Amino acid sequence: MSLVIAPPRHHASRQAPPATAGASPRAASGPAARAPARDAAPQAPISRSASSDSIHLKISGLTKRYGQFTALSEIDLAIREGEFVCFLGPSGCGKTTLLRAIAGLAPQSEGTIHQRGQDISRLPPQARDFGIVFQSYALFPNLTVFDNVAYGLRNRRDARDAMRRRVTELLTLVDLAGSEGKYPAALSGGQQQRVALARALATEPGLLLLDEPLSALDARVRLHLRSQIKALQARLGVTTIMVTHDQEEALAMADRIVVMNHGVIEQIGTPAEIYRQPASAFVAEFIGSMNFLQCCPENASTLRLGQQRLECAAHDLVGLDQARLAIRPEAVSLCAVGEGLSAQVEHVEFLGAFLRITLTLEGCGQTLSADVALKDSESLGVRVGARVGVRLPAEAIRLYPLVEAQA
Ligand code: ATP
Repeated sequence: MSLVIAPPRHHASRQAPPATAGASPRAASGPAARAPARDAAPQAPISRSASSDSIHLKISGLTKRYGQFTALSEIDLAIREGEFVCFLGPSGCGKTTLLRAIAGLAPQSEGTIHQRGQDISRLPPQARDFGIVFQSYALFPNLTVFDNVAYGLRNRRDARDAMRRRVTELLTLVDLAGSEGKYPAALSGGQQQRVALARALATEPGLLLLDEPLSALDARVRLHLRSQIKALQARLGVTTIMVTHDQEEALAMADRIVVMNHGVIEQIGTPAEIYRQPASAFVAEFIGSMNFLQCCPENASTLRLGQQRLECAAHDLVGLDQARLAIRPEAVSLCAVGEGLSAQVEHVEFLGAFLRITLTLEGCGQTLSADVALKDSESLGVRVGARVGVRLPAEAIRLYPLVEAQA
């Protein structure tokens, strides 16, 4: 049984959320119906194996339309038991809609959702097995911290002692022991969000849904809560999906990232895969800093940049007049003139740990950035106007068709 607190009316002008405020009584057929008696001994936090290969959630061919507008198109996704997955993408790409479809708050137009093998596609939110945390905390202002956290337990009619133990355990987990009697208004934003997290976890849901839980908090609190949520998730092993538009947050927290754009999935991968091997020019541009250079794929292992030639790893874009070469600034290195490509230093920016050097390639006039250690730049005599050699290692180069980048 899920605890469904009325979500913020994200797109209230367009469609009222179908969720009911507050948890419904115990769902007869939901997981809660099978839950053990709650007046037994206090429960240790469940630890599910994060390395498990079993699938917790399987989404197949999921499409969501709002009238003529398709918000999600043919989404296929499998999330493993215990995984921490982030939905990442620009505003309007469909992240929240997908999360809400999983919760049953924005039912899909087509496609299916299975949770632990059970088809939940048509179940109402209160019959699904999840806990949810919203960006706006959505705590009940007239209830104490204790009563907020106990909300789902009370609806489930847990015994009083077991409820008290569970609330204490959860508040300890989120570092708020002793705050039971306070009201939300007496708490900071970060504390309120930790209460919301405790409330979402209280009924031991199989799935934790986090809808931009950190974006209303200031930078310092966000960083702290980010590591707290990650540590808590790892400790409990609860399968978790978090929506974010903050790439750094996704890279730091997720086991796998689902990068979305215009209602489709562009790439699913670990943070390192997404960063190192972006599957499309969109992902390459969206994650981290990236240089893009227009080039001509001369053959399967050589590219031409104006008059200069460059080795690259084997690719399948031979025959195209133009392609887009992508390389991260930290993968670009400088060398002596005459080695590598020839370039001129346009701009040098001191960024503490390294220098960001803007270069113009000779012959084609295209610019790129190189992140270079201070000592390396000194030994090469890097200064504005100087000529230098530039190395673009073959293994760090990604190539994309020009048309895809322009689409
Ligand atoms: P953000 O980060 O800004 O919240 P998002 O990636 O979460 O963006 P969604 O909220 O999922 O995006 O919205 C996806 C698209 O669906 C957007 O174009 C949005 O305007 C549209 N949309 C969402 N809800 C509705 C609705 N109830 N009626 C009509 N269109 C909607």
